[in-house]
Amino acid sequence: MTAVAHTIRMHAADNVAIVGNDGGLDAGTTLINDPGAGLVLRDRVPQGHKVALVDIPAGAPVLRYGVPIGQALKHIEAGCWVHERLLQMPDARGLVDLPMATATPVPQPPLTGHTFEGFRNADGSVGTRNILAITQTVQCVAGVVDFAVQRIRSELLPRYPQVDGVVSLAHGYGCGVAIDAPDAVVPIRTLRNISLNPNFGGEVMVVSLGCEKLQPERLLPPGSLRSFQIRDDRAAAEASLDVTCLQDDAHIGFMSMVDSIVRQADVHLQRLNARRRTTVPASELVVGVQCGGSDAFSGVTANPAVGFCTDLLVRAGASVLFSETTEVRDGIAQLTARAATTEVAQALVREVAWYDAYLQRGGADRSANTTPGNKAGGLSNIVEKAMGSIVKSGSAPISAVLAPGEKLRSKGLVYNATPASDFICGTLQLAAGMNLHVFTTGRGTPYGLAEVPVVKVATRTDLARRWHDLMDLNAGTIADGTQTIEQVGWQLFHLLLDMASGRQRTWAERWKLHNALVLFNPAPVT
Ligand code: CA
Repeated sequence: MTAVAHTIRMHAADNVAIVGNDGGLDAGTTLINDPGAGLVLRDRVPQGHKVALVDIPAGAPVLRYGVPIGQALKHIEAGCWVHERLLQMPDARGLVDLPMATATPVPQPPLTGHTFEGFRNADGSVGTRNILAITQTVQCVAGVVDFAVQRIRSELLPRYPQVDGVVSLAHGYGCGVAIDAPDAVVPIRTLRNISLNPNFGGEVMVVSLGCEKLQPERLLPPGSLRSFQIRDDRAAAEASLDVTCLQDDAHIGFMSMVDSIVRQADVHLQRLNARRRTTVPASELVVGVQCGGSDAFSGVTANPAVGFCTDLLVRAGASVLFSETTEVRDGIAQLTARAATTEVAQALVREVAWYDAYLQRGGADRSANTTPGNKAGGLSNIVEKAMGSIVKSGSAPISAVLAPGEKLRSKGLVYNATPASDFICGTLQLAAGMNLHVFTTGRGTPYGLAEVPVVKVATRTDLARRWHDLMDLNAGTIADGTQTIEQVGWQLFHLLLDMASGRQRTWAERWKLHNALVLFNPAPVT
């Protein structure tokens, strides 16, 4: 079977295109359509990999997305496979003399009339799910909480049909940590702000061991719950933090601890169960976007469709968080130029500089990202990956910047500085207040979170076909030529409103595929 050779170029200036065909193209294949019509392939080129459209002299830039992703290490003839061994990666852009808010995009016209059914919280935020979350000060208690959660699920949840589930916010922090080191602020505020995520309805309950460094009142100091505690007089009367401490003298035996957790859970479940979804504007969405297991199609199909959807969400007044500092680092000049103000541009530089220093301290070099899977998928290096990653952010002005673990304070397109690691990024976006997660993947990952719906978008039809019960949307149709970026972007927008409303459940929700929370702790462990 010979399919028509199909290549995709992202920018008119590019001297390479990627092969779209399933299974790649053999040497000797003649390209029929542009880009590269008439060109005969000199090498076999795998799917998603680059082919030289013209002769590229040694030392000349290889251009993709209209930017140099590297220099040719030797003369590359037109029709050759351009793989990472032929490329010299460019140096990282310095952080001085960057364009600061010099190309702020003009805001696009508002998009009105779109709503979803959500759970309105006392602090004004809106949940997309109605979940009881059990906050923990330290990993030591995780086994006990898991035991209690099983009892809560079997004994209590059947009585509370309006509650979607109960989750244990287990993590590895709290003991043996340099809790006063400056960077300890990151894991501590991450845990605090996750407890306040809109999907948990302000019903904060804490399980503590007793001897840990991260004591409950340090995790959730008086006042941190205040915004949630205006719902009624009864709640105000109960405004003190609900803590079950396992080392409390009152506990005689394990079952006493479990009973205490189950009893407290019942109090919170009664209140959660009284809540109902109401119609709210799409502006109440807080969508965290990220990618993982990327291939060369991530930046061609799924990420541009997500970028189009990001623009729709921003036009509708929603918040969109984009992240993954190591994957946008090489596009820093684009981002600072796009900032809404010079202050926002400075905040971008501050976060990137902090991360550069963090990586340097650990002796990491830039080749650590990409992964072997990225390279097998056609991504030669981090510059190429970065350009494909940034397109998730669409074309709106960048209106704010959040440091890792900080909570969102504004609408619009927000840069939430996080590592690129899928679970760490997701954990930090939860802390920021994300109520819906969009995740693009090319190589494929079954990633899911218990705390918010994770809508997974496949970059290739082949992946969407094989993982038909894991991928929520196929953006591979863009490479196949059967749908446009705009069509898939709109499809995603409507899918998000359905998912947010609970009218649809993600595949990860249906299978209960839940990855662990993974804290970003740049501070020392003792
Ligand atoms: Ca990621």
